[in-house]
Amino acid sequence: MRKTAAALIGLILLLTGCASSIPTGKPVVVVPNYPLVFLAQELFGDTAEIVSMAKPGVDPHDLELTAQDFDAMTKADVVLYQPGFQTAVDEAVQAVKPKLAVDVAKDVTIMRTTATGETPAPGADPEEEPSEYDPHIWLDPTNMEKMASATVSAIEAAQGDNAKALAETAKTKAPELAKKLQDLDSQFTAGLQGCERTAFVVGHEAFGYLAKRYGLTQIPVSGIDPSVEPTAARIAEVQAEITQYGITTAFYVAGEADTVTESIANDMHLSLEVLDAVELEPEGGYLAAMERNLTALQQADGCPIG
Ligand SMILES: [Zn+2]
Repeated sequence: MRKTAAALIGLILLLTGCASSIPTGKPVVVVPNYPLVFLAQELFGDTAEIVSMAKPGVDPHDLELTAQDFDAMTKADVVLYQPGFQTAVDEAVQAVKPKLAVDVAKDVTIMRTTATGETPAPGADPEEEPSEYDPHIWLDPTNMEKMASATVSAIEAAQGDNAKALAETAKTKAPELAKKLQDLDSQFTAGLQGCERTAFVVGHEAFGYLAKRYGLTQIPVSGIDPSVEPTAARIAEVQAEITQYGITTAFYVAGEADTVTESIANDMHLSLEVLDAVELEPEGGYLAAMERNLTALQQADGCPIG
């Protein structure tokens, strides 16, 4: 990864003369994943040119950056990122040193992952080992609010006309976003009261923050990185917990081919439903996807829906 970043920087230096520029007079905000696209759109609206480095259909955990991405980061007024989530982005921020790189997660308490029985293959690249930390902070709406506040204060403290224009818009739009996120949080809190069960089974360990916030127990089939297959021992553990908690639904994560979770559901006669980790742009955006998640969890856990 580090070598790739260095090589790309070299390439950019070579190409600088003919690199295409971003054709707009607006301040440029560069974001590396969908949750931050949502955040930037909500905070800056049309004031900014929002450049997303997310690739359609590509798991953000495995994002690789192109020469254009490095070019965009070099020209950006602001780069939003979440250290520890996307290695390629962390390395690019170090290498490019953008005008302003905002750590959106600076006020969020990062959780460790639960042990899911994953072990890296012998001789595996240490950089490919499953992470100890859970990056899926945006699935707790109160974290999304903290991410917005961290962004606004970092931009308010920055120098320059573009930063000033962004700060001005963000200051007026941040309370609207906070209100939407607080409403979503209240819906979850109210909607998950009085359920028959509080545990849920899901294909990829993405819902730890959501579970913690609303008093649920997440039973993940595979770990933080969905591309690492669960062990047979882990699958047996999940099956035991399904019986223990009387679980009737298994969730796969939207956009992830998940034959393991599907076969657990088949073997144990569970219904197979979908949860959205909101890692790729969902239909209707973040808020709509979160509301669908709430409905799905309510149905799976036998919550009174009214
Ligand atoms: Zn994930």
